[in-house]
Amino acid sequence: MNAAPAAPRPPLRSLDDALAELLTHAVPLAGSDSLSTFDADGRVLAQDVVSALQVPPEDNSSMDGYAVHSAQLSDEGVELRVSQRIPAGSSGSALEPGTVARIFTGAPVPAGADAVVMQEDCEPVAGREGFVRVLQIPKPGQWIRRAGEDVRRGATVLPKGERLTPAALGLAASIGMDVLQVAKKPRVALFSTGDELVMPGEVAPEQMRPGAIYNSNRFFLRALLLRLGCEVTDMGIVPDRRDATLDALRSAAASHDLILTSGGVSVGEEDHIKPAVQQLGSLDLWQIAIKPGKPFAYGKVGAAHFIGLPGNPVSSFLTFLVLVRPFLLKLQGASELRVTPVPLVADFDWPRADKRREFLRVRRNATGGLDLFANQSSGVLTSAVWGDGVIDNPAGQTIRRGDTVQFLPFSALLS
Ligand code: AMP
Ligand code: MG
Repeated sequence: MNAAPAAPRPPLRSLDDALAELLTHAVPLAGSDSLSTFDADGRVLAQDVVSALQVPPEDNSSMDGYAVHSAQLSDEGVELRVSQRIPAGSSGSALEPGTVARIFTGAPVPAGADAVVMQEDCEPVAGREGFVRVLQIPKPGQWIRRAGEDVRRGATVLPKGERLTPAALGLAASIGMDVLQVAKKPRVALFSTGDELVMPGEVAPEQMRPGAIYNSNRFFLRALLLRLGCEVTDMGIVPDRRDATLDALRSAAASHDLILTSGGVSVGEEDHIKPAVQQLGSLDLWQIAIKPGKPFAYGKVGAAHFIGLPGNPVSSFLTFLVLVRPFLLKLQGASELRVTPVPLVADFDWPRADKRREFLRVRRNATGGLDLFANQSSGVLTSAVWGDGVIDNPAGQTIRRGDTVQFLPFSALLS
């Protein structure tokens, strides 16, 4: 019925190009949130965290034992009086010459002491209450944690743009920070397109009509967005109709930073995303030279960014990881947008080179090499569950068993 000639296929563009252009649109969100340090895991710092004190605050003991002045201990087995007791949380007084101080882990080393002998290397002196025999000649500095060895006063312990990890929260707390300034959460509206899609729970597996499939993309996309610190509005499945698509886009654009969709961005397809986004704003359809993946759309609807991912589940999953992930991190002002590949050895042959850069689903094996999932089709989501990462394989590249390849672990890509 519609006899319009097929549009010419746009040229494939490289992933690096596409990412670079996409990132030019990712202007970091204005403003920041003041958040309890307790709640800031995974968020991106909007401030430099600078220490007003040194950590540890003073030299302290890293052992339970005796603080000594090492020069006064030239012989093993010397008997010395225990002149004071310094538990953690208290501060002792200067060490009396010729004596030792009972000291516990974390307690400040008294002035005049320059080493700690652990209690296992000392013994009480029978018949001499309050005396200890030191069985080891200590080296100066032994078992002492130096003041400021962790954090110097005035040091930037966490720079703006750092994504907070559990360890980073601990470090911030160690310098007294109970509140942190973090980037705003990107507000993301998510919807799927496709009349074939059915939500799990709405129709039982045995009742599914021919041609229907369950909406799987919605589940992993939502989870991926949440892991990246986004606030997600799940708008469900939008029917393959122009008016429904326009309505969904309009209502999402008003209060979101990003509208993310999956499906309906393949070239030549009867779809409503493209004309609807163009009617309300602007849209570029990109054919990216990656496999799986390829179709990808970027545009604007009002002030909101629009990103259209391919419908095939593995394509959707991977284009999210290599394009949307850095985009969302940049919106949050993150300084590290990329995942560093790990060179590992392939334990398989991949004799058919592809014209496109490929992301092969693989798994590390017991000998540290990589096994390949047998079915690399863009519809086979099992590959992404079985795998613990992907090989980033350049276009035109075959792989022979024993070759070193570039591995991107999901543990890094999914965080
Ligand atoms: P499309 O990009 O709309 O042409 O879809 C490509 C393929 O992905 C088709 O086989 C769709 O049925 C499938 N697909 C699209 N969206 C989803 C989804 N949300 N969940 C699972 N499969 C999907
Ligand atoms: Mg579709």
